[in-house]
Parts: sequence; structure tokens; C-alpha cells
Amino acid sequence: MVNTAEYKIVSMKQETPDTVSFVLSGPSLEHQAGQFVMLEYPGKDANAKDPEKAVKRAYSIASGPKRGRWGDIELCVKEMPEGWISKLLQNVTLSTSFKLQGPFGRFVFNPKEHKDIVMLGAGSGIAPFASYLEEIRDEKLETKACLIFSNKTEEDIIYRKWLNDLVSHCQNAEVHYTLTRRTKEDIEGEDVWIGKSGRIDSTMLTHLCGSDLSKKDFFICGPLVFVKSMKEILLELGVSKEQVHFESYG
Ligand SMILES: Cc1cc2nc3c(=O)[nH]c(=O)nc-3n(C[C@H](O)[C@H](O)[C@H](O)COP(=O)(O)OP(=O)(O)OC[C@H]3O[C@@H](n4cnc5c(N)ncnc54)[C@H](O)[C@@H]3O)c2cc1C
Repeated sequence: MVNTAEYKIVSMKQETPDTVSFVLSGPSLEHQAGQFVMLEYPGKDANAKDPEKAVKRAYSIASGPKRGRWGDIELCVKEMPEGWISKLLQNVTLSTSFKLQGPFGRFVFNPKEHKDIVMLGAGSGIAPFASYLEEIRDEKLETKACLIFSNKTEEDIIYRKWLNDLVSHCQNAEVHYTLTRRTKEDIEGEDVWIGKSGRIDSTMLTHLCGSDLSKKDFFICGPLVFVKSMKEILLELGVSKEQVHFESYG
């Protein structure tokens, strides 16, 4: 059921130089891992047909369903270049309240159906996958979960410590990072990066997921270009359309 209610920021964290996460507390919200809320920013949208309309943006719920039932919702917001609301949200303060409407969306993890999942994320596209992984941990699910998380540089990796802690306690979950802006100098120099380098491609996918992809469900989230390119690679690898689930942020 879709609800609208006020939620107050009870904690916040600077995750990376351009991303802040915050936990908002309010009424219990029943949601599935991967759904999103519409956050209403208390301003008016000057570009909208109706200038009195409040400004709303979609944000994936980064926390698991269990926290939602307690009335806690975590969001993580990455500032978009020349973005409006994502920039304002970088500077919000504790105790600020926002109206949230939701939950919405079908980009959901269904533990009964999805037993072996591969999550392909880029940038803030980690948010729904943080929710999937939190549910797997909280409910002690046996779902086999592999996250391949692409970022430009090491400092852009959102939730890195949380992800590493989670997989160290959850034997059926694994995380692999890849950086797309590692220079030749980084690779040849003092840099001690032990993750992968370069964009996710078919070689990386089969190396990390094995050659038999037929029983897996693939979830893709991030900017439109990333989602498009991952879909193409998966289809070229013979993965069926039914196995591919995606949500794009732009
Ligand atoms: C289902 C869903 C879930 C999402 N979840 C998340 C999430 O968890 N975390 C997250 O960070 N984001 C998420 N997003 C994206 C989020 O909803 C916003 O789109 C994002 O925060 C940017 O909003 P903004 O107001 O800052 O940018 P806007 O002001 O709306 O601008 C967005 C981009 O468009 C460009 N732009 C704006 N106006 C124009 C114009 N007239 N012409 C050309 N270009 C223009 C800007 O330069 C900017 O790069 C999600 C989106 C969807 C659809």
C-alpha cells in the first residue's frame, strides 16, 4: 500500500565526497527490497506546468524491509552535476523532516523466486542492492548473491566498509569492485588497489560469475548508459530477457 507521511532525519553520513546517506524515522513502512520512495522537497517547481507543485524526486530505499517495519528508511543521495535537489540534499541537517510517499517500484528482490542473483551496480545504483543484501543478512537467506560494483575511483565507492563487513559475515554473499578511471600510472605505480580495473564486460562477468549463467537472475542499476550497456552484454552472453531486471536513474 502506498502511504505518504513525514519522516525526520535521525542520522546522516558523508559516504563519499559527493554522496550523503541519511536515515529518516517515521511511521512503519512495509516495502520490498529494491523499492523507492518519492521525497518531497519543500519548494516549488518553477519549471512545472503547475508552479505551485512541490518538487519530488525518486530515491531507492537503501535499508532492508526489517528497518522499514520499524519506521526507519535509509536513503543515499549522490549529487548530480548541475543537479538541483541532489545538491540541496547534500546540505540537509539532522532533525529536518521530509514528506515521503511510497513504496513504489518493481525492481524488487523476491527471496522465494530469486535464489542465485548477480547485482550489477554503478555509483548511487548501489542503493537497492544495499537493501537486497541487508534483507539477505537480516533474514539469514540462503540466496547466492554476487555484487559487481563499478565506480570511477576508489573514493567514489559508496558503502564500501558496510559492504565489506556484510560479506565477511555472510558466506553466500560476495562483492567485487571495479574502477573505471585507474590510470596506467596507478596500475604501474605504488597503488595497492586489489580490486578490478575497467568497465564491466563479458570477460569480467564470466570470470566472476562462471560460464553457466542460465540459472541466475541479473539485476542492473545505475545511470541509463550503464544499464543499457550491461543489458547488451548479458544478452550477447545468451542470458534470456526474463533473467534480466533493471532500473535506471537517468
Ligand atoms: C526509481 C529511481 C530511483 C532513484 N534512486 C536514487 C538514489 O537512490 N540515489 C540517487 O542519488 N539518485 C536516485 N535517483 C535519481 C534521482 O531521482 C534524481 O534524478 C537525482 O537526484 C537528480 O535530481 P536533481 O534534482 O539533483 O537533478 P535535476 O535538477 O533534476 O537534473 C538532473 C540532471 O539533468 C540535468 N538537467 C536538468 N535540467 C536539464 C535541462 N533542462 N536540460 C538538460 N539537462 C538538464 C542536470 O544537469 C542533471 O545532471 C533515482 C531515480 C529513479 C527514477
